[in-house]
Amino acid sequence: MLTVTNPANGRAIAELAEHAPDAVASAYHAARAAQPAWAAQPLAARLEAIRRFRAELVRDTERLAAILTSEVGKPIRQSRNELTGLLSRIDFFLAESERTLAPRQVFDEGGMREVISHEPLGVVANISAWNYPYFVGANVFVPALITGNAVLYKPSEYATLTGLEIGQLLHISGVPQDVFKVLVGSGSVGAALLAQSVDGVFFTGSYATGAKIAQTVGPRMVKLQLELGGKDPAYVCDDVDVAAAAASLADGAMYNTGQSCCSVERIYVHTKIYDAFVEAFVKEVRGFTVSEPTDEAAYIGPLTRAPQLDVLDRQVADAQARGAKLLIGGHRLPGPGNWFEPTVFCDVDHTMELMREESFGPIIGIQHVAEDAEAVQLMNDTEYGLTAGVYAKDEARARRILAQVHAGSVYWNCCDRVSPRLPWSGVGHSGVGLTLSTYGIETFTRPKAWHLKQA
Ligand code: NDP
Repeated sequence: MLTVTNPANGRAIAELAEHAPDAVASAYHAARAAQPAWAAQPLAARLEAIRRFRAELVRDTERLAAILTSEVGKPIRQSRNELTGLLSRIDFFLAESERTLAPRQVFDEGGMREVISHEPLGVVANISAWNYPYFVGANVFVPALITGNAVLYKPSEYATLTGLEIGQLLHISGVPQDVFKVLVGSGSVGAALLAQSVDGVFFTGSYATGAKIAQTVGPRMVKLQLELGGKDPAYVCDDVDVAAAAASLADGAMYNTGQSCCSVERIYVHTKIYDAFVEAFVKEVRGFTVSEPTDEAAYIGPLTRAPQLDVLDRQVADAQARGAKLLIGGHRLPGPGNWFEPTVFCDVDHTMELMREESFGPIIGIQHVAEDAEAVQLMNDTEYGLTAGVYAKDEARARRILAQVHAGSVYWNCCDRVSPRLPWSGVGHSGVGLTLSTYGIETFTRPKAWHLKQA
């Protein structure tokens, strides 16, 4: 059995039966049998099912947001934001799929034609994270279903109730039971899923698990996409509006209680404005309401996973031992549940775990730099490469810096932002492959090359 616990108070809220390995195998065989008929439906029919799924999300937003908040501890307004933000992603896929998937004639001369078509991969495994289960799940299962694949969906054990709701809503919307199957359980169920002969593996989660999965799946020569963690930096130049940059970055570091793959995890500030920035940043963080996640005013909630408290304790102790200055927070909050104070350090450097290891919590280090070149060197001093931002008045200066930064997404005067129109990808330990944009539709297909010669 899997016990679902409310991270705000440690109370059990549901007991669910895990899928045993033979049930995972049955789901795979059923999906394999059902996929050709799903792919044979006209694209318009599959798009219609996703359109109905969107309508269900709109109709049920309040209930779904409450379930998400109860199992991951996300402040209720942020749960609603995730659901409403999902709608524009779905709209993008609904608008762009037909054009993207249309066969392309690329040559026509002397009776010889060449055409590229997009074939579904077949049965794909979608192993997902808990921090944004609607966003990161839908980045995969929506385009995967639209392109004619069957999906075996393994939500994180920390977001299983939400995963089951997603399954029900898709089924109500016309996606056949065997074409989208939710597999309940912990990492071992994910491992059992990967033991099946799936045609593609789409994983969102930590580098550690991603690396394990790459070792298992690599020799099978199937499509493997890994969207992994980050240690995302931002650099604040000396020509900025300090208060505006501090407000934007405080939100980027602390939203979703710091548990976003693209949370700002390191801040570098030009020495000329360092003191003013640090003061403005701490003022912003002091203004955040730490409260029960069901409270409409809550901005910071509990951490979803209790073990992450130990990671944050360790990062705080290590930073202090190496001479960082603690400006606010630094401790667990008393009582049941996984609570940690919003925490800000200055005078940090790259000897500290806080500036090197993914924190995934409401904690940040601010380091001063003397010039742009030093900021570039420090931003690139990481094995990750998901996002990076520069705050500057001068666009040319920001673009010069961002051009040198190794990251899948770069931001000028913004952060912690994902767009359905742009590819979402990482370099280094942040992963391989991508979701979103029209590339994130094509990625669930196999291009087939047609050489057609008139008799
Ligand atoms: P984990 O790596 O712990 O888990 C991810 C998924 O893999 C879960 O469903 C987990 O199941 C499952 N799993 C665990 N072990 C195995 C295994 N051996 N075989 C197959 N599946 C397994 O990540 P988290 O869920 O804790 O997510 C947080 C991480 O995800 C952070 O590093 C974050 O940065 C990253 N992330 C990246 C995103 C991106 O777009 N790049 C987006 C969102 C998050 P279970 O939970 O049941 O153990």
